[in-house]
Amino acid sequence: MNTNKPIKNVVIAGGGTAGWMAAAALSKLLGKNLNISLIESDDIPTVGVGEATIPTLHVFHRLLGINEQEFMAATNATFKLAISFENWRDENQDYLHSFGFLGKDCWAAGFQHFWLKGRDKGFASEIGDYCAEHLGSRTGKFAVLPNQDLNHAYHHDAGLYAKFLRKIAEQHGINRIEGKITEVNLNQQDGQIESLLLASGQLVEGDLFIDCTGFRGLLIENALHTGFEDWSHWLPCDSAIAVQTTTTSTPVPYTRSIARESGWQWRIPLQNRTGNGLVFCSKYMTDEQAKQLLLDNIEGDLLTEPRVIKYKTGTRRKHWNKNCVAIGLSSGFIEPLESTSIHLIQRGIVRLMQMFPAQGLVQADIDEFNAQTKFETDNVRDFIILHYHVTQRRDSKFWRYCSSMPIPESLAHRLEMFAAAAKVYKYPNELFGESSWIQVMLGQGIEPKQYHPIVDMMEDEELKAFLNNIKSVVKRKNDNLPHHYDFIQHYCKSP
Ligand code: FAD
Repeated sequence: MNTNKPIKNVVIAGGGTAGWMAAAALSKLLGKNLNISLIESDDIPTVGVGEATIPTLHVFHRLLGINEQEFMAATNATFKLAISFENWRDENQDYLHSFGFLGKDCWAAGFQHFWLKGRDKGFASEIGDYCAEHLGSRTGKFAVLPNQDLNHAYHHDAGLYAKFLRKIAEQHGINRIEGKITEVNLNQQDGQIESLLLASGQLVEGDLFIDCTGFRGLLIENALHTGFEDWSHWLPCDSAIAVQTTTTSTPVPYTRSIARESGWQWRIPLQNRTGNGLVFCSKYMTDEQAKQLLLDNIEGDLLTEPRVIKYKTGTRRKHWNKNCVAIGLSSGFIEPLESTSIHLIQRGIVRLMQMFPAQGLVQADIDEFNAQTKFETDNVRDFIILHYHVTQRRDSKFWRYCSSMPIPESLAHRLEMFAAAAKVYKYPNELFGESSWIQVMLGQGIEPKQYHPIVDMMEDEELKAFLNNIKSVVKRKNDNLPHHYDFIQHYCKSP
């Protein structure tokens, strides 16, 4: 549906991470020509989780001109170089998925082929020794230095992050409206959203609406009935319990993901506290059992009461429908195993800005927005399913289901290629690159049958020297770094 009505008034419904990220970006980058309002209700809390990120957040922060030291000081952030997957492959078997690049660029075949032969011959050590971020996670050493390029993300306080972004948005003229949305008014002819009615009686009109109301999806679903593609047959966890505790030890530079009987537990270290939670499947575990399991496996004193969050994994059938764009939890949810939700929020915002319909809605733009979003989301979904499906765990009904469930064809194709001959490909615009797929596929226990024949062109001594050289460069780099937490304390005091 094309319209010729210029877009002047943008209304963001909801003020969680999604709402304030959208508000900060739109006001800073497009605000001069728009009137932007954000409605949020103090009576309706945000989801209150979402504290682990991935390195792509740098792109968003660069767009907004955010200073890293100020951001980290304002949100009690720590650095994150990896996720530690514990008990996933099998009980008592752990691996790291780091944000780094494995080995170095090899023109004909990926580094994994050289490493596989080296390992078979007995002169390669674990694959993480050939990756700076991997080693940094294990030694706890990291610093932001002008001459180093370690790929890092953050753990941050979600509530403080929203406040931090709100300040930026307000500096750029956003109009914040406190109030509860009680009605979404649609145009009788074309079904587009015309206005939102608040409990106070205030009517907020707009040309374009961004639905950031969280799982409720007040605009995109309750009003526009866009539809939901349910992925719970692939990702059966549907509940989480979250609780914050005091910190009992020096924060580690990675998120911990510990597989449990019917789900997994997270531990996210901030400067001043730890975020904990258990993601679980209600078919195999009650809320009470989950709460007990979590409380039995945390350290430190409780700072909050354990809180249950219910969700359904899947995606909205359209992320942009008529004059409404869904960003954040309103657009769907893939569970937080690889900390991808904030990334998908950021991608939605950037894509909307790239396709911003200043002169009116263009259906081709809307279709393109939806197609690109679908591609990205499907890719993230496959990567998450991989962790559950490729496991040797058979110790509970949950793991027996996950290991035997049918999987998407797109994932089956990737697994087959890797298992046969260690091949991995990244398609343009996919989030996860080769190094991520390799670390997780090896970590979960896939053993490729062969490596690429080009490796056999190298004599054993040559291969040994090639591997040793990479390993010693990685080690030297790491030796020269301070402990990441010592660095944070200095870094966050001196923006
Ligand atoms: P919410 O935080 O729910 O905000 C909704 C907003 O809408 C609120 O401001 C509310 O007041 C407002 N609102 C709702 N209804 C009304 C109404 N009627 N009137 C007015 N205002 C209204 N993501 C990551 O990237 N990393 C993680 O580690 C991570 N962990 C997670 C763990 C769990 C268990 C879950 C469930 C999610 C996790 N996520 C994570 C996802 C992340 O939390 C969200 O993507 C992020 O917080 C954005 O949420 P949101 O802003 O869409 O929704």
